[in-house]
Amino acid sequence: MHAPKTSRRVLFSRSDGVIDAALLQGLRRGDRRALARAITLVESSRPDHRDAAEKLVEVVLPYTGNAARIGISGPPGAGKSTFIERFGLAGIALGRRIAVLAVDPASKRGGGAILGDKTRMSELARTPGAFVRPSSAGDSRGGVTRRTGEAILLCEAAGFEAVLVETVGVGQAETAVAEIVDIFVLILPPAAGDELQGIKRGIIELADLVLVNKADGELAAAAHRTVADYASAVSLIRPANPEWQVLVRAVSAREGTGIREVWNDVDRFRAALELTGAWSRRRAEQRRTALWSEVGDCLLDCFRASPEVTARLAAVEEEVIAGKRSATAARRQLLEAFFHENGANLDFNKPVKPPPT
Ligand code: GDP
Repeated sequence: MHAPKTSRRVLFSRSDGVIDAALLQGLRRGDRRALARAITLVESSRPDHRDAAEKLVEVVLPYTGNAARIGISGPPGAGKSTFIERFGLAGIALGRRIAVLAVDPASKRGGGAILGDKTRMSELARTPGAFVRPSSAGDSRGGVTRRTGEAILLCEAAGFEAVLVETVGVGQAETAVAEIVDIFVLILPPAAGDELQGIKRGIIELADLVLVNKADGELAAAAHRTVADYASAVSLIRPANPEWQVLVRAVSAREGTGIREVWNDVDRFRAALELTGAWSRRRAEQRRTALWSEVGDCLLDCFRASPEVTARLAAVEEEVIAGKRSATAARRQLLEAFFHENGANLDFNKPVKPPPT
């Protein structure tokens, strides 16, 4: 690996992308500005940026994997950002470097609920040893997986020992985030018994740890009742990890109660899963899933971008919607056009093996 003589800043340059040496060195030193720039690069959809991002992630890969990747989700107003501020500061007090990626799947860059509010986690953001970053995931589930997944790797390469990935409890974002973290923490407000039904069972099933926030002042009693309700609800669900019984805990992000205990929970969770090998098996499984979603996304992008396909797509889709053609026949025509354009002949009679799951 030689630095080209023309530029000292370029570590190496290839036709498929350029990595900035200063950026890489800054990142490895744990410099927050370098990390922010690197994340901007992996979030960019410009083809040259994507090439450079791909190379960067490859180069830092050996330095990744050490952090605890913690997903944090919950409905708007549950107190996620108040909690993350407290939890992050508690982690710093324990001597850990904490990165926070706030994923806002609903917003494009610069807008939206999470990104819009600059006051969120301001104390944590100012603390040396912490890094807070609103992360734009675009509008797709794939966006969360790919870009946020890569952002996590960059945080690890920069030496952060915990990466918190926050998402708002709506849509498919939690499922996507659950696929790229080690432990999934659900934050809920105190609720009356009948409101329990309103929380989607699917989301509860994702949780390794449920925190009922706002267990303070007038809300304290309601919070403790809610803990009891959720505890009996989760005891009926078969835990995702046999090593770990899902915990339900009351916390107050405002007063800081119960927050240190959550770090203990995270550490115990990790220790329990590492003991059986489940921790690394899960990561391996996540990498496999990421590969297949990359392949799927990429093929679909190529398909949609194909002139042969776009020339036919609207009319064919119309016919299928109107019930005049079967989806199978339409798929044949579009795929034939696509593969023909790309110089390949698809033999439809050959059975296509599904990807391993
Ligand atoms: P998010 O939308 O989930 O990020 O929620 P925020 O952190 O912005 O908090 C929503 C509201 O709940 C704010 O008015 C907070 O001050 C309040 N809040 C957050 N945590 C607590 C808590 O522990 N106790 C009480 N009483 N209020 C809280």
